[in-house]
Amino acid sequence: MATKKWVYLFTELDQAEKYVNGEWERVRALLGGKGAGLADMTRAGVPVPPGFTVTTEACNAYSAAGKFPEGMWEQELEAMKDTEGATGKKFGDPNNPLLVSCRSGAKFSMPGMMDTVLNIGLTDETAAGLARLTGDERFAYDSYRRLVEMFGEVVLGIPDEAFEHPLANYKSRKGYRLDTEMNAEDWKELTETFKRVVREQKGFDFPQDPYKQLELATEAVFKSWNGKRAVDYRRATNIPDDLGTAVNIVTMVFGNMGNSSGTGVAFTRDPSTGEKKLYGDYLLNAQGEDVVAGIRNTEKIQNLQQEMPEVYQEFLNIIDKLEQHYKDMQDVEFTIERGKLWMLQTRSGKRTAKAAVKTAVDMVNEGLITKKEGLLRVTPEQVDTLLHPQYDLKAQSQARTDGRMFASGVNASPGAAVGQIYFDADKAEQMAKEQGLDVIMVRPFTKPDDVHGMIAAKGILTSEGGATSHAAVVARQFGKPCIVGASMLRIDLEHRQMEVNGKVIKEGEWISIDGATGEAYLGKIPVTAPSLEEQTDLLTLLTWADEICATPGIRKAPQGWPTRGLQVWANADYPRDAQRARSYGAVGIGLCRTEHMFFEQERLPVVQRMILAESSQARTAALNELLPHQRSDFEGLFEAMDGYPVIIRLIDPPLHEFLPSEEELLEEVVTMRVKGETDGLEAREKLLSSIQMLHESNPMMGLRGVRLSIMMPEIVEMQVRAIFEAAANVTLKGVEAKPEVMIPLTGTVKELEWIQPRLERIAKAVMDEKGVNFHYKFGTMIEIPRATLTADAIAKLAEFFSFGTNDLTQMTYGYSRDDAERNFLLKYVEEGILEKNPFQTIDRPGVGRLMRIAVEDGRKTRPDLEVGICGEHGGDPDSIEFCHLVGNNYVSCSPFRVPVARLAAAHAALKHSGVMIAEEK
Ligand code: PEP
Ligand code: MG
Repeated sequence: MATKKWVYLFTELDQAEKYVNGEWERVRALLGGKGAGLADMTRAGVPVPPGFTVTTEACNAYSAAGKFPEGMWEQELEAMKDTEGATGKKFGDPNNPLLVSCRSGAKFSMPGMMDTVLNIGLTDETAAGLARLTGDERFAYDSYRRLVEMFGEVVLGIPDEAFEHPLANYKSRKGYRLDTEMNAEDWKELTETFKRVVREQKGFDFPQDPYKQLELATEAVFKSWNGKRAVDYRRATNIPDDLGTAVNIVTMVFGNMGNSSGTGVAFTRDPSTGEKKLYGDYLLNAQGEDVVAGIRNTEKIQNLQQEMPEVYQEFLNIIDKLEQHYKDMQDVEFTIERGKLWMLQTRSGKRTAKAAVKTAVDMVNEGLITKKEGLLRVTPEQVDTLLHPQYDLKAQSQARTDGRMFASGVNASPGAAVGQIYFDADKAEQMAKEQGLDVIMVRPFTKPDDVHGMIAAKGILTSEGGATSHAAVVARQFGKPCIVGASMLRIDLEHRQMEVNGKVIKEGEWISIDGATGEAYLGKIPVTAPSLEEQTDLLTLLTWADEICATPGIRKAPQGWPTRGLQVWANADYPRDAQRARSYGAVGIGLCRTEHMFFEQERLPVVQRMILAESSQARTAALNELLPHQRSDFEGLFEAMDGYPVIIRLIDPPLHEFLPSEEELLEEVVTMRVKGETDGLEAREKLLSSIQMLHESNPMMGLRGVRLSIMMPEIVEMQVRAIFEAAANVTLKGVEAKPEVMIPLTGTVKELEWIQPRLERIAKAVMDEKGVNFHYKFGTMIEIPRATLTADAIAKLAEFFSFGTNDLTQMTYGYSRDDAERNFLLKYVEEGILEKNPFQTIDRPGVGRLMRIAVEDGRKTRPDLEVGICGEHGGDPDSIEFCHLVGNNYVSCSPFRVPVARLAAAHAALKHSGVMIAEEK
């Protein structure tokens, strides 16, 4: 049997495609994003240095067996021969040495998962040969010491400091400040020192056999797939563990061969704002990592036009071609070796949420991609980021006036962050996770090892590095506000403090950073919610999302079910929330929790009087006082939602929630008795005994919801009167009111049979009294498992269902929604007992299954049954997708999440278009 093909030359893309049946996503899975990109560029005629890719399948085989799979190494040697042929150089030959780099590359880019090893192939002999050949001894030994250092760190796992200290000592001994002051002899001597470091640290010599170097480097890439930082990164980005990484072996080209050479990185559009403008940096006479590490001050890419006009023009042509080819913003790496341009990498560029929206909308308008593609380019989480808080502008300008701005740097990732500073990733993570603090991580620069701290932090501030540095790239990806290169900061890691202009700022102190302007302030600056109206690109995108969802037939569904996508409604208790919901694009109110209106200062005493009333008359008197308040609240809601449905839920919580705390009152009474105080004692004792009578051991499963309505119908009768009077009043003013009355916590249809007809009578009576007619509905929340299982019966009365998934999750799991997270739930998620927190994301096999049954059975009785969701899950993208699949008409969430939900609803519709929803599990 022929051995499997583990290695593909960059010129063998066609074979790789054939192997995976031509699917590009599978090519990327096989060769990794970087390998696929290099091969694809090679095929498109872009100048790429010759090389090859060892597949992700080889990595997975290595991880499973702990050794290279059979035939892989032989294929790698064969590919080296081909590469020698293509370059006319020879690996290990002092007279014409071929040097290669070794880079990891998974399907999805994981910045810095494993650092690159450059200059593989240099040994004592070939370094001397390279010096002779190029006539540049300094270059040869600078390259060699880089290999020993990178190989030592990346392949052999020697800590960075083991190399950094000798270099720093050497420079200070010589009185040098910069690496550029080092001459050939210096690098030669340092190479020897570095080789000694390897021997001391590892007990063996730095390998003088280039093939050994290649073998160990390949193995190190495979191993790095399961290294801590790669695993952390995958956890944070939901990249599956079984993808594996490919290994790319690429002929070295040198940007450090004098001033006709150089290297750089660039984005085809601004990754921070999305503007269509080339964005990047380069350095002459330098190697790749010099640009990214920010050790030397880089030049703006546009300046290359003056230095090398022809190369610049060629570069522009190539990247334009690449953007057209990939139909996305590209992040490219290039090197110029003695006037010849080489492209080393292209990938779709990481970008801020703002840039994601702008590039998507622009590219649709440029005709590069379709609206559907544009919508899928932006994630709901990115929309969420755009609605995240920004600084209150007045407070920010005041902070400036007060001289609190202490540093400024590159505005690497926008957004406002306020937090306490910590100087290393572990501490930052610990303080954020264990102590729940808002943390700003401050570092001279960040490395891939720091990613966990960056994820845990609210923001990142570095004193070094530029717009394409590790900190900047990672922060953008995670939507973290970030400033890099704030060079006025002197960070003292040892004493855990930083100093700027004589002012010392210690670990734990508060600062505020503005990633949009690059300014850092002492202390806290208040933040405000950004306005959606000003984000015109986002509004455009969301309009497209709504168009998709409104398309009839985008959902394939049984007869009578909705065949358009989901609508997005909002949970709003007050007219101002309803207005915001409208301005964010909600087309209905899915839940108004009326009891919130009872808590207002002047109303609560009346509510308490109503609850404690000893006769029905006394209760009705109190309720009559409340009625005008409720009516005017409802009028405001109907006015704000003119023409759109408004679901008003009748009182739901247990009554003790409206009364003073039993424990506090008891303490007060006991103290008064002990002290012999009598003034007011009797009234308090009476109140206490009433509260004690209402006491329940299990109030969330007690007298609440529809049960309360049955036990004290006067309350809901008042509420229904208020709703219909309000609807009638606004109708008379020309507003189109569409009230939907929602009865909570139904467990049996008998409850509805008892209460609903009484309420409907009131509704009709009010309409008669007022002489107006409008459309209304009566329906119920579905939040008790029994209700889902008897939905066919319940739908006989209920004209609509709304899933209260907060309670439904509580009652399905038997987990208290108020205590579970604090007590055990987070541990359950950590231990993998629960995949996700079911109070955030619908548990599809359990709670979700009940929902599916309820929709299917409910619509058997009432084919046009309106179904929605109003639990917290209504704003969660994964749960929204599930609601689409279950056949909901709409999801309802907090006004701030409406834009997120609109995009998530469109994604669900696009992802499942044409699939019969009832079949999708
Ligand atoms: C629910 O239970 O999901 C719900 C929306 O109602 P509440 O949170 O008010 O109990
Ligand atoms: Mg509920």
